[in-house]
Amino acid sequence: MYENFKQTVVAAARKMKMAESDYVRFLHCERELKVSFPVAMDEGGVRVFEGYRVQHSTLRGPAKGGFRYHPDVDEDEVRALAAWMTFKCAVAGIPYGGGKGGVTVDPTKLSKAELERLTRGFTEAILPIIGPHKDIPAPDVNTNGEIMGWFMDEYSRLVGEHSPAVVTGKPVELGGSLGRVEATGRGVMIAAREVYKKLGRDIRGARVVIQGFGNVGSNAARLLEGLGAKIIAVSDVNGGYFNAGGLDLSEVSKATRISNAELLELDCDILIPAALENQITEKNAARIKAKYIIEGANGPTTVAADEILESRGVVVVPDILANCGGVVCSYFEWVQNLAGEKWDLEKVNSELEKVLVKAFEGVYKIHREYKVSLRQAAYMAALKKLVEVE
Ligand code: NAD
Repeated sequence: MYENFKQTVVAAARKMKMAESDYVRFLHCERELKVSFPVAMDEGGVRVFEGYRVQHSTLRGPAKGGFRYHPDVDEDEVRALAAWMTFKCAVAGIPYGGGKGGVTVDPTKLSKAELERLTRGFTEAILPIIGPHKDIPAPDVNTNGEIMGWFMDEYSRLVGEHSPAVVTGKPVELGGSLGRVEATGRGVMIAAREVYKKLGRDIRGARVVIQGFGNVGSNAARLLEGLGAKIIAVSDVNGGYFNAGGLDLSEVSKATRISNAELLELDCDILIPAALENQITEKNAARIKAKYIIEGANGPTTVAADEILESRGVVVVPDILANCGGVVCSYFEWVQNLAGEKWDLEKVNSELEKVLVKAFEGVYKIHREYKVSLRQAAYMAALKKLVEVE
């Protein structure tokens, strides 16, 4: 996966005729920590888990990025996710570098008490490299506000001071920001809306398919429905539901069951992958019928698939632009924590709207100017910002 990232960066840099010495540092991760830590299990005894925290770059500010709990977490995945964060924060124009973390675990097999002990153990294990001005984690796949609350509590206990700004995506009562839970989905909605606007099309009635109905997918669905789009299929890890006439999101179980593979190839206008990496590959890219792909997930499309989609004229709004709403709102949360402020929802959403529309405009301008895909344009926009501070 990290190889995919490197290929994309090199291609974008070459399009801009950038000297290798300007971008070579971004092909490497600044700091990588691999940890093993013991967790007491409910049945007695101890299990040792492995986890990672990677800081790809701290050039533009502290490392920023979520951590996930998943059986497939490994070094390569965390490196790629960290690197994408550097580019995402640069595209969004927020003063952060990129980081990511994860623990190799199936959290569905743990009790809540075990999950809390795992989170506290992971916090202690990565303590040497995190902090409100060093590296600020956030939620990702299978991690949520409650887990961020445990993380903050453990960090504060270990360093001996109340430190809400060490992590974002916290529950509102523990210093979280209003609007953070739906911010990534809101950004996905804004990305879809803006690309439709640019191409002079009406999003009302657009048929939308969403893979992954977790935090990002479910909020994007609800907000796109609010714009008049029609959600015709959604899925989770167990499979999907489809109704060509539109789903009632509160009663999806009444719709026709389909597999995740079938869902990706449905006839629709907008496809939103919002689950995991490498879902659209050279194996299925030629059969994707969507006209627009808005990448809610990180890295859902492989480099080979991207080329196929581009040659077929499918418009792909890339992850580092389409899903940056979450980290932008995390930035707002961090700013509120450091300043001891509490913004109301209206302020959060209007600031988010401003930042995201500006990021979209910046990428779109490069896309037109250089006649490159939106993905290449987003990488070029990010590289420009990164190299300016070098
Ligand atoms: P989540 O854990 O809330 O939801 C993930 C969803 O994907 C669940 O519905 C799960 O059942 C489903 N899923 C898992 N494996 C699947 C598979 N093989 N096929 C179909 N569905 C599958 O996670 P999330 O926070 O919504 O994150 C989803 C994606 O968005 C990830 O790529 C994540 O890195 C990215 N992302 C999340 C945020 C955020 O703020 N949460 C921000 C930016 C990007």
